[in-house]
Amino acid sequence: MLELDHLNKSYTKGSAEIRALADLSCELKAGTFYAVYGASGAGKSTMLMIIGGMLRPDSGAVVHGGKNIYGLSSKARNDFRKRTIGFVFQKFHLMPYLTVAQNIRMPLSLRKGSAAAQEKTAAAAARVGLSDRLSHYPHELSVGQQQRVAIARALVGDPQIILADEPTGNLDEANQRMVAACLHEEADRGKLVVAVTHESALYNSAHHRLQIADGRLMGQGGT
Ligand code: ADP
Repeated sequence: MLELDHLNKSYTKGSAEIRALADLSCELKAGTFYAVYGASGAGKSTMLMIIGGMLRPDSGAVVHGGKNIYGLSSKARNDFRKRTIGFVFQKFHLMPYLTVAQNIRMPLSLRKGSAAAQEKTAAAAARVGLSDRLSHYPHELSVGQQQRVAIARALVGDPQIILADEPTGNLDEANQRMVAACLHEEADRGKLVVAVTHESALYNSAHHRLQIADGRLMGQGGT
């Protein structure tokens, strides 16, 4: 469903050049849950952002539906992002002045013709156990609850591809299990799920594990 083809990405900081991805290639299949792991600084977040159409690689391609998403116009790539990708950011990126319900439904408001936004928002909140917090603001929530809002927001639009950066990093065990179950349900429904994670239950439950070291793909393990 998604092909990463010889991706390279470097950052320059002053005179230093940091190679974040080095010729990374792999194929990611629909209906599959991938756990990405590796040391801090290995390039995991960079890979996720490039897959999500948010960060242009220096070279290489992300091929979806036969097309390199970085060969599309910026408008077409924005549309791809809005329609196809659900992204859970490591730092959540919730809007502080919007309620839980308004944050969750944001991807729907960015789309034209998305009916039944209220029902979809309520259903996504219920999946992560936040039905009783819909009118709260992010600052009124615990960090773990904020993380669950970010997960509901990624799922609400029923995207084909769900990308999550440490989605259970701030959750207690019960909520980790709930989020792992949500991500597995998505994969079972045919979605591609890619989660950067060090949390053992989520990691162990993945269909495939991708190890990144120094911007390269090392081993690939299945279940
Ligand atoms: P990981 O998610 O595995 O911790 P990242 O993809 O965040 O790794 O980062 C890979 C490397 O690129 C690290 O050395 C990091 O310091 C560097 N890096 C990431 N983003 C930037 C940036 N915006 N500017 C400069 N260096 C960056």
